[in-house]
Amino acid sequence: MPDAAAHLPFYYGSIARAEAEEYLKLAGMSDGLFLLRQCLRSLGGYVLSMVCNLQFYHYAIERQMNGTYAIVGGKAHLGPEELCEFYSKDADGLCCTLRKPCNRPTGVEPQPGVFDSMRDNMVREYVRQTWKLEGDALEQAIISQAPQVEKLIATTAHERMPWYHGSITRDEAERRLYSGAQPDGKFLLRERKENGTYALSLVYGKTVYHYRIDHDKSGKYSIPEGTKFDTLWQLVEYLKLKPDGLIFYLRETCPNPNMPGELTSPTFLASLCTLSPFIFQRQLGPLNADGYTPEPVGKSRLLPMDTSVYESPYSDPEELKDKKLFLKRDHLMMDEVELGAGNFGCVKKGVYKMRKKQIDVAIKVLKSNNEKTVKDEMMKEAQIMHQLDNPYIVRMIGVCEAESLMLVMEMASGGPLNKFLASKRDEITVSNIVELMHQVSMGMKYLEEKNFVHRDLAARNVLLVNQHYAKISDFGLSKALGADDSYYKARTAGKWPLKWYAPECVLYHKFSSKSDVWSYGVTMWEAFTYGQKPYKKMKGPEVISFIEQGKRMECPTDCPAEMYTLMQQCWTYRWEERPGFITVENIIRSYYYSIANKTENGPETEDKSKETLP
Ligand code: AMP
Repeated sequence: MPDAAAHLPFYYGSIARAEAEEYLKLAGMSDGLFLLRQCLRSLGGYVLSMVCNLQFYHYAIERQMNGTYAIVGGKAHLGPEELCEFYSKDADGLCCTLRKPCNRPTGVEPQPGVFDSMRDNMVREYVRQTWKLEGDALEQAIISQAPQVEKLIATTAHERMPWYHGSITRDEAERRLYSGAQPDGKFLLRERKENGTYALSLVYGKTVYHYRIDHDKSGKYSIPEGTKFDTLWQLVEYLKLKPDGLIFYLRETCPNPNMPGELTSPTFLASLCTLSPFIFQRQLGPLNADGYTPEPVGKSRLLPMDTSVYESPYSDPEELKDKKLFLKRDHLMMDEVELGAGNFGCVKKGVYKMRKKQIDVAIKVLKSNNEKTVKDEMMKEAQIMHQLDNPYIVRMIGVCEAESLMLVMEMASGGPLNKFLASKRDEITVSNIVELMHQVSMGMKYLEEKNFVHRDLAARNVLLVNQHYAKISDFGLSKALGADDSYYKARTAGKWPLKWYAPECVLYHKFSSKSDVWSYGVTMWEAFTYGQKPYKKMKGPEVISFIEQGKRMECPTDCPAEMYTLMQQCWTYRWEERPGFITVENIIRSYYYSIANKTENGPETEDKSKETLP
């Protein structure tokens, strides 16, 4: 997660209160002199340290449930920078207004937090080890799930700390602390037998003191009556600086004899490779038939990498041996259950038997009375899909020619995005939509890279595997561009989804990744309106003249301003000036990362009624 204050010259990162006061002294102690530092207590929080009448004042800035920042009891602001700007004009309860930033002396960089400095490596190693991914699959997983993975690691990192002794008794804790030297501040943290709570055991004056660690309903940890923290390792780091009610501050780790190495040592990363399964064991809820699982509050949710359709079934070299375009009919079992229908025929549920496993599939069955051209079209769609392999695109398993022509695809049981959002309007948060649209942008970036144009990107053609996992489907109109071509020119107009088409498609029949970007903007609009139809009751030709007049659809209610700005960029009239998917993915990724972990329990447990994103 990018640090929202990283760019500020008066931001010092993770420094202690005493150090902050030292910097303020050096800078002259004038009234309103201030600096910002990382808060050791709350994930993503800050402290504003300032001077007034030669006295120091320290104000905690908390990151709130809805992603805004506020000094306790004060007004909410979009970010730490906006907050400082506000208090430079209005003291609003502070000792005085902020007058002069105490900038970092030359050569002083913001101090990385215990966790920050190794975050990227940890995320990479965690994803690699947990889901056994390599190459592109690994990169895609990191890009799309970094916020979720960071949260998982942040809340389990204490289990890799040398001071964490796991589930040992009070007597055993005392035995460990009394063995060897007993300096004041020698400590360990242990899990208590009683319903998974924790305790801190600390030596002072050759005596061991035990403190219960409370875990409140919102998931925060604290010593009774003490300061609350998001994670156990933050609590320990804080208590190393300040006793906060303990008889002494934490000073020396009593190392767990069963856990060699420090978190900060190179051995830590190596040890991630041999993670004991309990560390990252996550409780996953069962998936309902429609791919929708009520979200488990405070528990981890299913990530795309946890599903069977994240990687191709042919990523297993054994299965790859059998990969052919045409599948054997006797390996395919077809259910009567119909998943959907189109003018070509219907889509049925089925199971495909592979060498080592059976997989759920969706089978597009051509109506038996269809003429040759329809058959040819389906084969063209199959040829396109055959060349694609990406976690955010519905993969084709193969085609089967039997009682009728059948296109066998991966199953995305959550159905089309527009219908899903329309039916779950009250449960799906804005950040959930941003997450899904980011995945669509990743799939489209892949298509752009491979020089394919989709030509029918719309919410109805984004299928869900589950609430947090989307795939692009329906390649019926798609084209592979020639190596030197940047667009495809259709000779004649067909039955086209005009409301999703860019002006150059309608006027000149020219289709490129840039025209797919236009459709992506319309798809975003559909998603943020929870599945409404674009351009209301207008007919295709009316939409064209609406666009020609420079008009665009309005910002959907509750749609963040950043996301509407992106939609508008996608609807840039001239394709030469329109962003490509590399840019689109980048913009939505930054926004997604900036909001993803801003809630107490991650975006999945957000209380929708409280969401007040701009
Ligand atoms: P299509 O003609 O490809 O848009 O498919 C028609 C409908 O069939 C879609 O709207 C979905 O409800 C369903 N469908 C198509 N492909 C799949 C799939 N891979 N997994 C699950 N359902 C699908």
